[in-house]
Amino acid sequence: MKLHEYQAKGLLKSFGVPVPDGRMAESAEAAAAAAAALGGDTFVVKAQVHAGGRGKAGGVKVVSGIEGVREAAAAIIGMRLVSRQTGPAGKVVSKVLVEKGVAIAREMYLGMLVDRDRGRVVVIASAEGGVEIEEVAARSPEKILKVHVDPAVGLMPYQCRILGYGLDLPQDASGRFAKVVACCARALVEKDLSLVELNPLVLTAEGDIAALDAKLNADDNALFRQKDVAALRDLSEEDWREVEAGRHGLSYIGLEGSIGCLVNGAGLAMATMDIIKHCGEEPANFLDVGGGATVAAVTAGFKIILADPKVRAVLVNIFGGIMKCDIIAESVVAAAREVGVKVPLVVRLQGTNADLGRGVLEKSGLAIIPAVTMDEAARKVVEAVGN
Ligand code: GDP
Ligand code: MN
Repeated sequence: MKLHEYQAKGLLKSFGVPVPDGRMAESAEAAAAAAAALGGDTFVVKAQVHAGGRGKAGGVKVVSGIEGVREAAAAIIGMRLVSRQTGPAGKVVSKVLVEKGVAIAREMYLGMLVDRDRGRVVVIASAEGGVEIEEVAARSPEKILKVHVDPAVGLMPYQCRILGYGLDLPQDASGRFAKVVACCARALVEKDLSLVELNPLVLTAEGDIAALDAKLNADDNALFRQKDVAALRDLSEEDWREVEAGRHGLSYIGLEGSIGCLVNGAGLAMATMDIIKHCGEEPANFLDVGGGATVAAVTAGFKIILADPKVRAVLVNIFGGIMKCDIIAESVVAAAREVGVKVPLVVRLQGTNADLGRGVLEKSGLAIIPAVTMDEAARKVVEAVGN
């Protein structure tokens, strides 16, 4: 689960990370009032969406005076922000963060996440902040510093100092930087976060350290014990298909392609996506209805697929093991009756009760394109999209 920047900063502040004073606002008027309450001359107005790259996309404006804040907020709220991280459809901005402006001397990068190869938290720092860290890693990997955290002892003060020295900071700033690293590491562990990223973390003209941007991701599997973090969820920022699927306990991931997939078993679901790509089209989703899915859950999954305007054909690919093919067939028919199928529907049923399942589909009178093998199913559904 992703957090907004203003939420991330609030959380990190409670762990001792220095962040600029700021307030969230949902209208130009509220943004002006926030600026008046903050005081000062220079402000930064920042789009709050679950995506980075806002600066380049016009979602971050440094302005002076309360009128400047009002104008910037009016321009940003309601805009469709398109960055590399939002995808081509972009995200409509509904709120901004108004902050006191900071005079920047240097922009740095600080990130932490789990290094899956090592099974440890890795802390990444770079003197090249403000740009995407992937770019720095590709262009000049020597500018990326890393330390791994031993879970038995936690992040050690000397490791924080190694990073501080490595960034070539003045001595007292280096000490403050080390403290920020320690605070972030504590937040990561105590709040079950999967990512902490401060980009940029800056050295200010006054010699202080401040996090100007903050990105936090929470580990979904730990939300049950992180009620305060879970309360920060903003469903309006999430893929509606995934939100709906989550309510029915389905493993669903929305994708950008045109072929909806209803499959049982994660392995078969992956193989189905692969063969669709192999045949020249793109899947619209990953959906594993699982081994013990009920008619209600399969119906819900099928409805989500059909309600997706990007879907131009559907492939149902079921291997009946625990899940019986006739149950799937009944669910497909029930969902199709309820929402109506306006796109070609290719169905492949194999395994337990496959014959019964095919019988259910035939009797339903639905225009279903049957397939026996994976290859045949994929070719037929790709052909159907082409027509
Ligand atoms: P992102 O593009 O989504 O990563 O948004 P950021 O929060 O990182 O903002 C983009 C850029 O705006 C930063 O790299 C800074 O250069 C600039 N910026 C953000 N806050 C301030 C500020 O308080 N003062 C100044 N001068 N620049 C800022
Ligand atoms: Mn940033």
